[in-house]
Amino acid sequence: MGPDALSDRRWERARRELIETIRERGIDDLEILRAFDLVPRHLFLPEAVHHRAYEDAPIPIGFGQTASQPSLQALYLQTLGIGPNDRVLEVGTGSGYQTALLAHLAAHVYSIERVRELSVRARAALDRLRVPNVALLVGDGTVGWSRYAPYDAILVAAAAPQVPPALLAQLAPGGRMLIPVGGREEQRLLLYRRSGEGFEHEEVTRCAFVPLLGRFGWAE
Ligand code: SAH
Repeated sequence: MGPDALSDRRWERARRELIETIRERGIDDLEILRAFDLVPRHLFLPEAVHHRAYEDAPIPIGFGQTASQPSLQALYLQTLGIGPNDRVLEVGTGSGYQTALLAHLAAHVYSIERVRELSVRARAALDRLRVPNVALLVGDGTVGWSRYAPYDAILVAAAAPQVPPALLAQLAPGGRMLIPVGGREEQRLLLYRRSGEGFEHEEVTRCAFVPLLGRFGWAE
């Protein structure tokens, strides 16, 4: 019996436990918890790691990349306060799981991934779940996606040596951005907010993400 033969009920039970863990970590926004209930994480992961799909842990997805830890993704969503009219930019589609969560909370999601094969897989999973409001792009997300700017929220899911100026420039008035900034091993998760003519920022927590590679990221 392969991992796919696990019954739907078993997936559901595992998902409920994950949601409980996320709640224990201080995420109490019901729309966010509902999004975690609606999106089957295993469908975004390689079959070889399906049995680990509902662990609150980063999971390898190939190409040296990982799907981020769910409770950290929940913290992103809650900190950004995504609303139903928001247009959101995501840098680092990866598995597409966070993209699908966002699609339930926002009006439209634009997501950039530099590894073509990961973007292709994410698209397949999103289509399988009939998620309609997501546009994916293969390319360097450190320059943003000017075509659909400005964005009410920007999520960067990889660690930057500095804040890419193009991303700040693509924030709408009142827009928020979360980005891990620091060294290759450890970073500070920073929250930026565009207010008036300038930006405010604060540290949310410490974290460890895979590197953001590209023009305003680390050298490839
Ligand atoms: N939220 C995703 C996180 C994936 S890890 C998930 O949970 O699955 C971060 C991703 O960022 C990796 O897939 C990596 O390939 C991608 N990435 C790194 N640098 C990038 C860049 N400059 N532009 C777009 N994607 C980038």
